[in-house]
Amino acid sequence: MKSIQGSSRRIENFSRIVHFFIALILGGFLSALGNKVLDDLDNWYVSPVYTDYEDTGKIEIIKNRSSAIDSRRLELKEKLSQLESGLASAVSNYNSEKESFNNWVKTRETIGDPNQDPEIKAKLKKLDELNEISSSWQTQINTLGDSLASLRQQEKLIYAELNAQVEIAEEKFNADLRTYRLKIFLIRLVFTLPILVLGLFLFMKYRDTKFKAFVWGVVFFSLYLFFIGLVPYLPSYGGYVRYIVGIVVTVVVGYYLIKQITIYFDRKKAELQKSMEERVDTIQYSTAFKSYQLHSCPSCEKDYHLIKDTDNKPNFCIHCGLLLFKNCSACGQRNYAHFEYCSSCGVELKSKKDE
Ligand SMILES: [Zn+2]
Ligand SMILES: [Zn+2]
Repeated sequence: MKSIQGSSRRIENFSRIVHFFIALILGGFLSALGNKVLDDLDNWYVSPVYTDYEDTGKIEIIKNRSSAIDSRRLELKEKLSQLESGLASAVSNYNSEKESFNNWVKTRETIGDPNQDPEIKAKLKKLDELNEISSSWQTQINTLGDSLASLRQQEKLIYAELNAQVEIAEEKFNADLRTYRLKIFLIRLVFTLPILVLGLFLFMKYRDTKFKAFVWGVVFFSLYLFFIGLVPYLPSYGGYVRYIVGIVVTVVVGYYLIKQITIYFDRKKAELQKSMEERVDTIQYSTAFKSYQLHSCPSCEKDYHLIKDTDNKPNFCIHCGLLLFKNCSACGQRNYAHFEYCSSCGVELKSKKDE
């Protein structure tokens, strides 16, 4: 007990840092190893690839039909532009003939019966012929338009067939992907769950022992493995599983924390019920030292330094009655009662009190 009390604050801090780094480095190496194992476990099963699920033969046939339609359409479009330019020139022939006919009619003083006038008859016949040529171009254009429309219809059907093929492939692929993910998750669960249980067990039983640095290293590792290595692989099922796992984890961790807090308060309460002498004996040097720096009572943890007047320091805690300051029995110097030695003469304070 003497050696612990004698250890300086610097050594305490140093020891804390050493413990922390041992835990951190051990946790880091364990996590790296755990990740490696998990990655290798994943390789037991090969992830399904979408393209393996397509009926390539059928899709090839459909695509060939589609490209045949494409080239046929190009052909028809070319023909259509030829027909359209033919129609345009026929229409312009007819219009110019009609204009010259109208002008010719105006220069004639009298117009006889067209049936009697051979000149008019010939001209009108020519106009009719030209008009018929235009109509025949138009008819061809219309026929071609029908063919194009039918091509569009066929294209639609082909598109629907392709879609149906994709749907069939996707359905099979997604089913296999779900199975694959579930397998990976279960393998990871089998590996990580025992480690999490081990971590929790060590945390509850051995977190304050001599080799606590190793314990904390394993605790870090188990938490890392569970939350980084397993949770992202939880099958989602539309978010249900993740939310439910979140609720369960919160309840379990929350239950443990609330229980710990209750235990702590119960212990404090029981401590305060003991006599002052008993309490003074149970107060550890490190706790007393920290309390002195914070001006808080080492027993009830409330502020004793309410009166800021330095000449009027309290001897006892005004909240719980614990002895805080007393005079050295050898030299009369006033000392914090939980220090080991008198700050003026170096006499041991506690042993003097026991006399
Ligand atoms: Zn107190
Ligand atoms: Zn003294």
